[in-house]
Amino acid sequence: MRTAVVESVCECQARLGAEMDEQRRALRGWARKKLRADHAPAITTGLSAESFNVGWACPFCGRNTLRAFDTNALVYQEKPANPSVPPASRAAARSSVPAGS
Ligand SMILES: [Zn+2]
Repeated sequence: MRTAVVESVCECQARLGAEMDEQRRALRGWARKKLRADHAPAITTGLSAESFNVGWACPFCGRNTLRAFDTNALVYQEKPANPSVPPASRAAARSSVPAGS
């Protein structure tokens, strides 16, 4: 799975961040202010080929902060979906036990 991170700054000076998938859906959002960090629900709207908007509900000031981003500015990086349980090893474990020999 490949994800990209977008960042902005709220009117209250909190730093807002969101992680998006390749369909530009917000997977999670966060906010940081000074030494505090908190979960900030994020949504994407206004999807087009060139741009999209990300809206955050800022946990520090309660504003709904909307920011426009350029699609070309997104940098996607590979992120393992679930590295601890790869599907291949589960199948191998099942077939490696011979039944009654
Ligand atoms: Zn704020």
